Amino acid sequence: MSDLRDLYQETILDHGKNPRNFGRPDEADHHAEGHNPLCGDRLTVWIKIENDRIRDVRFEGNGCAISVASASLMGEALRGMSVEQARRVFDAFHQLVTGDEPPPAESLGKLIVFGGVREFPVRVKCATLAWHTLRAALEGRQDEPPEVTTE
Ligand code: ZN
Repeated sequence: MSDLRDLYQETILDHGKNPRNFGRPDEADHHAEGHNPLCGDRLTVWIKIENDRIRDVRFEGNGCAISVASASLMGEALRGMSVEQARRVFDAFHQLVTGDEPPPAESLGKLIVFGGVREFPVRVKCATLAWHTLRAALEGRQDEPPEVTTE
C-alpha cells in the first residue's frame, strides 16, 4: 500500500511541477475563475465545447502542487468527453476526495491518485478547486467566481 501511495504522490508532484494543459487557449467559449482562500490557490479554467463535447480544457494560475496537479489531470481526463460525462466525472471525483461514499471507479482513471486527499480535509479544497471552477465555467457563471467556502 505504501508503494502505491508513493506512486500516487509522484504523479501529483509531477503534474504539480509540470502541469499539462497549462496556458490560455486561442479559442475558448467558456471560462471561470476560482479561488481557494484557505491555501491561496487561484485558477482560471477555459473550455471549448463543440457539439456538446469538450474539445479543450486549459488553465492558468498559481497554487499548491495539489491544486495545480488536479487541474492538469482534469484536463487530460475530460478532453473529448461529452458535457454529461464530464459532470459524472466531477461527481465521482468529488466523492473520491471527500470520502462521503465510494466513487464509481470506472470513470476516474488516473484521477484515482487523489484518493489520499480525503485524509487531509484542508487539502480537499485544493483538489476540488479546478473542478468547481470548471463547473462554474460550464454553467456560464463567469461573473461569479466560485469562492470556495469554508465549512
Ligand atoms: Zn492548495
